[in-house]
Amino acid sequence: MKIQAPVSKNETYTGDVVDVTYEGLGVVKVDNYSLFVTNALPGEKVKFVVTKVGKSFGFARVLEHLTKSPDRVEIPAKDRKLAQAGIAPLQHMTYDAQLRFKQHQIQSLLSKGKLDLTVNETIGMETPYHYRNKAQIPVRLVNGELETGFFRQHTHDLVPLEDFYIQDPRIDKAIVIVRDILRGQGLTPYDERTHRGIVRNIMVRQSYYEDEMMIGLITNSHTLPHAKEIVAEIVDALPNITSIIQNVNSRPTNVIMGPITNVLYGEPVIHDSLLGNRFEISAQSFYQVNPVQTEKLYQLAIDRAGLTGNETVIDAYCGIGTISLAMARHAKEVYGVEVVSTAVEDAKKNAKLNGLTNTHFETNKAEYQMAEWQKQGLKPDVIVVDPPRKGLDATLIESAAAMAPKKIVYVSCNPSTLVRDIQRFAEVGYHVTEPIQPVDQFPQTPHIESVTLLERD
Ligand code: SAH
Repeated sequence: MKIQAPVSKNETYTGDVVDVTYEGLGVVKVDNYSLFVTNALPGEKVKFVVTKVGKSFGFARVLEHLTKSPDRVEIPAKDRKLAQAGIAPLQHMTYDAQLRFKQHQIQSLLSKGKLDLTVNETIGMETPYHYRNKAQIPVRLVNGELETGFFRQHTHDLVPLEDFYIQDPRIDKAIVIVRDILRGQGLTPYDERTHRGIVRNIMVRQSYYEDEMMIGLITNSHTLPHAKEIVAEIVDALPNITSIIQNVNSRPTNVIMGPITNVLYGEPVIHDSLLGNRFEISAQSFYQVNPVQTEKLYQLAIDRAGLTGNETVIDAYCGIGTISLAMARHAKEVYGVEVVSTAVEDAKKNAKLNGLTNTHFETNKAEYQMAEWQKQGLKPDVIVVDPPRKGLDATLIESAAAMAPKKIVYVSCNPSTLVRDIQRFAEVGYHVTEPIQPVDQFPQTPHIESVTLLERD
């Protein structure tokens, strides 16, 4: 089909940034045709060059800022690579502006969905960087050398990087150390085109409240050459390490981890705490990446649930049971469901570890288990849902409503599916009764987490 755009690649223009996308890109218009521009803020006048032309929109790069927004922060030269890598796409916004951006994103999606609801100011964090407790870094060959870094956005080209800016600096340091050890032992990095080479990724998890670290080597091959030497060198260089695992992923896929995990050193898990509960976390289990903000998020969910100690609670998409256990201290019974079986094993162990006897966990798809509980006649007072980005299955909303809980607490990591699900809940008699509360779990990135309370009419 013929492209009808009013611009061509490599042309330069001057224009005003009129809006910002959900990914944090500035929007400029040429004859009503939208171009998305990195590092451009609403209100700025920019000179830009067109880099990509699509049928209904295109992309451009700023050549010069003719005026600057008061929301702008200058990015130091050493951190410019981060934008290319897509690690910190909001890095050019002041933190205050990032928090407002997140609040407005939810607000505008609600308006588009014809929902007249209030969104509170985003709850931010004091130090909005160095917060991530987990990294899964790709390992590739760059200029003849095994390198670690990040894929340039929308590609699989590795940009070598040592300072990841938003990760716990202890993780950054560990990645460089492991990279050098792998180089020294002559290990080959994975090559996606030929599906050859050994090391695909380095995974690191660091506890926040405890001095524990897990290193995972994700390999294409079942064997890890020089495993003994590699382990000895890692332990020598990083004495606080408590777990080294190898995970085998021999499939040609973008999914990072494969089905087999071997413990090479120490324990198969690391420990950390949230709201006073201690957790065992195994390599493949989901665990929130920003511990400081997660405690605020969970506390908010507990507050919205209005627990008094007498309630029966369902925690759908419970992961390793972090919300379940936090709520179990304030409720009569908590029923959790999660699809990843190792996470459910962790959840059960974690309940024991914390001396909690009022929790029950099932491995199942949440949409199936909710229907099952409904059939069994379970009568929850509160249902908490914390689904992945795609939001809730329509059948889950029906089974949830059929169990007639007083309250539904919706923890969302994607405002667009949240809005869709709020509309679906309205059809079965549940409405939002308190302002939606965003909590910034992912500073410097456009990801938006929020808590919404819905109550039965
Ligand atoms: N509440 C937990 C986990 C939230 S992340 C926490 O705060 O740590 C979402 C979880 O949903 C992940 O653990 C993922 O494995 C799980 N999941 C994804 N799809 C699912 C489904 N259809 N049914 C049940 N769990 C699912």
